[in-house]
Amino acid sequence: MTAVSHRVSVAEWAAAADAVRGLAPGDEIQLICHVNPDGDALGSMLGFGLGLRRLGFTRVRATFPGQFEVPVPYQALPGLDMLVPAVEAYREARLILIFDVAAESRLGALAPLAVEGFSVVLDHHASNTRFGRINLVDARAAATSVVASSLLDRLGVPLDAEIAECLYVALATDTGSFKFDLTTPAVHELAARLIATGISPADISRRIFDTRPFGAMKLAGEVLGRAQLDRTAAGGRGMVWTYATLSDLERYEQRPYVLDTLIDPIRSVAEADVAVVVKETGPSEWAVSLRSKGAVDVSAVAVALGGGGHRLAAGFTGHGTPEEIVKAVRDLLDANLT
Ligand code: 5GP
Ligand code: MN
Repeated sequence: MTAVSHRVSVAEWAAAADAVRGLAPGDEIQLICHVNPDGDALGSMLGFGLGLRRLGFTRVRATFPGQFEVPVPYQALPGLDMLVPAVEAYREARLILIFDVAAESRLGALAPLAVEGFSVVLDHHASNTRFGRINLVDARAAATSVVASSLLDRLGVPLDAEIAECLYVALATDTGSFKFDLTTPAVHELAARLIATGISPADISRRIFDTRPFGAMKLAGEVLGRAQLDRTAAGGRGMVWTYATLSDLERYEQRPYVLDTLIDPIRSVAEADVAVVVKETGPSEWAVSLRSKGAVDVSAVAVALGGGGHRLAAGFTGHGTPEEIVKAVRDLLDANLT
């Protein structure tokens, strides 16, 4: 295994394109993205799947591990008819394409399938373990959809409005609506190409970012209201954190994905470089989101605790109480100041 590379080599691009070109139209192709999929995972996977259909492939399925639930904002994505529960994934696909997955652990029960088959990994996490046969991992790409669109270009697939909508949702999600640090001129050039197909960024943004049930808004109020500021954490740069339980979700009759955007108001706190949201997912099990404004490499913290991600946005699965989990994070912060 080679060291983590930040860009994709010419040979890797060629190998991935050849892997697709070598298939017959009726060959089975399985697409997989990570557990609890977000906009980039679903958007890059479905956008690429639509591209494969345009190339004439008739057997294309998409799936993800864990609970088979697509967050409501993504339920209007084009290409959703490709999506099947994990048990209906092609077991002997000629080609497996894996989207936005930094490590096998994010593939749950689908990990053996992905590792034993002929797999191409498309991803942008610096912590990617390069578990595929071919690894298109570009840690400087703002989203996996940047990698996916690049491979579609190399395969000669013209962008249309359906493909563009998927890729735009992915790009807008992972760049925080074109606000985050990897939002380069190339990102805006890609966005321009996508918008030129006729999609409506305003409609998409309202649907994806600016719509939520009343209960989700009230739940957010409660979770934000219990946030705590620890000024001395991270060498005095500060840490702000909060948590949400399954009983919070039950009380407001909300699904877990509504908690995923709460990291954004939390990370806006001026007095803290590091933001943490601890979300209960099962008995003594929590999904932890970490963000940094730059002083701390939170991906190193996440990796040390069994997870992964990017320098400024990372996560892991925690066990115990929220206080115990936050203490473990706090203990690692000083060691990972950048
Ligand atoms: P989020 O906080 O939005 O769920 O995730 C932020 C980043 O951390 C994403 O890039 C995501 O892939 C990564 N991440 C979140 N949770 C985990 C985890 O449990 N394991 C790994 N390897 N990465 C994670
Ligand atoms: Mn991503």
